[in-house]
Amino acid sequence: MKLEVIRLKKQFKDCTAINNLSFSIETGEITGFIGPNGSGKTTTMKVIANIEPCDEGDILLDDISILEYPELIREHIGYVPDSLPSNKDMTVHEYIDFFASAYGLKTPIRQKSVLQLEKFTNLTSLRDKTIDSLSKGMKQRVSIARALISDPDFILMDEPAAGLDPRARVELRDLLKILKDQGKGILISSHILSELAEICTSTVIIEHGKLLKAGKLEEIVNESAKSRNPIFQIKTMNPPSEELIKKISLEPMVSKISVFGNIIEFEYTGTKEQSIELVGKLVSDGLRISSYGFKEENLESVFMNVTKGEVQ
Ligand code: ADP
Ligand code: MG
Repeated sequence: MKLEVIRLKKQFKDCTAINNLSFSIETGEITGFIGPNGSGKTTTMKVIANIEPCDEGDILLDDISILEYPELIREHIGYVPDSLPSNKDMTVHEYIDFFASAYGLKTPIRQKSVLQLEKFTNLTSLRDKTIDSLSKGMKQRVSIARALISDPDFILMDEPAAGLDPRARVELRDLLKILKDQGKGILISSHILSELAEICTSTVIIEHGKLLKAGKLEEIVNESAKSRNPIFQIKTMNPPSEELIKKISLEPMVSKISVFGNIIEFEYTGTKEQSIELVGKLVSDGLRISSYGFKEENLESVFMNVTKGEVQ
């Protein structure tokens, strides 16, 4: 299945939270929804989940508008908000059972599904604890269980990794992988890309409510790899002198010089022929080139390029 956001717009007084945003996500993919704080991730998810109306645009679920048929949302889209459940006196079991009942599940099917959900989200041993007494990671599993009640095709998760301890993060990652393998489509937002780099298969990067880049990770990384520049490393006997660093920095098309220990590293933006000439020149100046190659492209380097460093 495909969930398509088309030219979405949302204005809050003088703030344009979503500005002509289009992208699509598919089942069987984990899509990292990345953007700095205030870039419109939460608002976009709320509009898709029908919690917030939009001003313009459409959202299609396999070509059917869910703005026109919002009843499709309940069945096909689960939403895990960034705020966690805070129903003080309810137990985990009562909470999940309440929402299963609100969704329309009747006993005995409801009992069975709630038990299955508790097992799947590792809540069985916590089912009689009150929501209030749970840690953040546990509360989040309750939120996820709630979102899964309708066995939706898509799950929207708003900053689910924020504030989790390392163990809870690993558990979350494992759960997301299982959901993906079950064929669900997951949109997971974060402003911290290292939280997502390992598990995403696609990405949507936004800034100021606008799309910067979207697509399958492999394609984006390959595309970005085509335009990359070679990196030189020069090894010196002692930490390099200011004079040498200056000399190298004055070479045309040399950029991003950095020094660590006895190594000077820089990027070269010239053509292949020019870089061969540069190698000859450096060698005839008595310098030792210890490495020449291309930096590996990954999610992180792609993000750095497209977001101009605003995303952590
Ligand atoms: P993100 O989740 O990426 O941090 P949000 O979607 O929460 O971004 O916010 C996008 C922009 O919309 C921000 O500038 C925010 O201040 C503004 N905004 C969000 N919700 C409201 C609201 N209810 N009223 C006014 N402005 C809002
Ligand atoms: Mg947000």
